[in-house]
Amino acid sequence: MTNEELRQSLLANPKNGYEELTTQQREEMEGYAAGYAAFLDACKTEREATAWAAAEAEKHGFKALTPGMELNPGDKVYYVNRNKSILLAVMGAQSLSQGVNICASHIDSPRMDLKPNPLYEDSEIAYLKTHYYGGIKKYQWLALPLAIHGVVCKKDGTTVTITIGEDENDPVVMISDLLPHLAGEQMQKTASKVIAGEQLNLIVGTEPIEGEGSDLVKLNVMKWLNDRYGIVESDFLSAELNIVPAGKCREVGLDRSLLMAYGHDDRVCSYAELEALFNIGTPAKTAVCILADKEEIGSAGISGMRSEFFEHFIDGMCRAQGVNLFDCLANSFCLSADVSNAYDPNFAETCDKRNNSLLNYGVSICKYTGSGGKSGASDASAEVMAFIRKTFDESGVIWQSATLGKVDQGGGGTVAIYMANRNIPTVDAGVPVLSMHAPWELVSKLDCYETMLACKAVYLSK
Ligand code: MN
Ligand code: MN
Repeated sequence: MTNEELRQSLLANPKNGYEELTTQQREEMEGYAAGYAAFLDACKTEREATAWAAAEAEKHGFKALTPGMELNPGDKVYYVNRNKSILLAVMGAQSLSQGVNICASHIDSPRMDLKPNPLYEDSEIAYLKTHYYGGIKKYQWLALPLAIHGVVCKKDGTTVTITIGEDENDPVVMISDLLPHLAGEQMQKTASKVIAGEQLNLIVGTEPIEGEGSDLVKLNVMKWLNDRYGIVESDFLSAELNIVPAGKCREVGLDRSLLMAYGHDDRVCSYAELEALFNIGTPAKTAVCILADKEEIGSAGISGMRSEFFEHFIDGMCRAQGVNLFDCLANSFCLSADVSNAYDPNFAETCDKRNNSLLNYGVSICKYTGSGGKSGASDASAEVMAFIRKTFDESGVIWQSATLGKVDQGGGGTVAIYMANRNIPTVDAGVPVLSMHAPWELVSKLDCYETMLACKAVYLSK
């Protein structure tokens, strides 16, 4: 054998995915990317993504799961959890005692939320106070157009849905930054202190209402909100109003190979899971799609992945077949579909390039996350890793492996640990992202498309 033949047969040979895509796949990829961009534009919060997924599921023949419902192979059901997360399933040919194939992602993204008492006036400018949600670099959220998305639940039982800043005729809101001329001291601060959490105050108005009195600008803003939405100041207490970057998903690069948008993490995997689920026919095992909330703040709470809403859903299906929930979970498999950090040559020193995911190398499998000696990681077993690479290879999925940064550089986590804690073999895989958690994140179309194929391969595995 020549060295070249040895190299081919013995050494791993990662390739840019564009070398492997067929012409037909290129076309499918573009169609998929366009569909994904439309989803992103429609869904910037967990509530919007949940409503979108339920409506789309209905179009594909899914029905809300109800107690005592009969479930036959090929039946499609979904379960909306408090308007903020959703579970969907396509019943398989096999009994639920054989387990289910799960793809689990999250639909919440880093942002700012309005405080319960947000509105005030200072120096004849009206502001809304915020509390940031998830891991953000606070300085990135200054001096850019921001939109308000969310709901106000009133005492009379009605809910008002608010979206301001996405239509091109809408106003937007903004947090001001300091001019460079006076920023000498600010620029000496560390980046985490350049802007304090209590300075993340949104400018929402400057025109005083006509007449006498104090806080006339604040009053004018409240009147505008009341005229339009019928709300009063105390209604902010029972509201969830999220502040996100205003604007649509855009193609990036002169070759249009990338997509820039708010909240790729982790709606890029959520959309992949849904698109795959809608196109699998009747699988061997029951396929379960999870779109969870609260991942960005530790998966806690009633709509996060630590909540027993998951068991409630699976058990609801198990009881229809007389199957024990724990038997079903023990025989199940979970792909924790979440993003990885794409290798960024601009910040090369933060990564081990040999073990980092790369743009356009396909869905990235991440054996473990965590930080400081894998602490907090689910750490998929060798057996699980063998299963997932075999599953992807047999389905022609373009994939790569990933780790989150250099050893001791930092770290993070996903829902994987909470699925594995339920006695479900679990591994992380998803789309590599540049500028993760920034107001605008970047992914490659190829990796998005391959992640959808990866989800499909998991749903259809036996
Ligand atoms: Mn994520
Ligand atoms: Mn994240």
